[in-house]
Amino acid sequence: MKLVILDRDGVINYDSKQFIKSPAEWRPIPGSLEAIARLNQAGYKVVLATNQSGVGRGLFDMDTLNAIHDKMCRALQSCGGRIDAIFYCPHSVDAHCACRKPKPGMYERIADCFNVDLSGVPAVGDTLRDLLAAAAVGAQPLLVLTGLGAQTVEAGGLPDGTLVFPDLAAATEHILLSS
Ligand SMILES: [Mg+2]
Ligand SMILES: [Zn+2]
Repeated sequence: MKLVILDRDGVINYDSKQFIKSPAEWRPIPGSLEAIARLNQAGYKVVLATNQSGVGRGLFDMDTLNAIHDKMCRALQSCGGRIDAIFYCPHSVDAHCACRKPKPGMYERIADCFNVDLSGVPAVGDTLRDLLAAAAVGAQPLLVLTGLGAQTVEAGGLPDGTLVFPDLAAATEHILLSS
């Protein structure tokens, strides 16, 4: 099975230090929805793994998170794209859960749910947390420079083998060429 794992904020949509707390605040990065559609067309399942600690902090509730994801899925649909599953961690940092990236809990659940080995599976993110969680399960970390990506490169310490791309469209180009 062909699978790609994506972070959400800073990869698919613009991020905000104030969190994405409403559907109105969710705005796609140019080319990201089309990139997901291209992956779908090439036979990839596209799965999200997203930290959403705003829920645990009480900044927005689950209904709102679902409404944000409805908006995302409708926008994708109008581009011919589809996300096959959304895994999210709603916990705050101090909950010390097993799912908040850099812990690999969400990726492990993806492996279980889809019954796949994540070795070499492309996992795209804009923060070190995304890359560390990917590396922990043997996935291929891809860093994009959108969102917090430029800061992430500057801070260094990327897992061995991390590939860096300007944005999801460019990362997708690489995934499609190397598959
Ligand atoms: Mg992100
Ligand atoms: Zn969690």
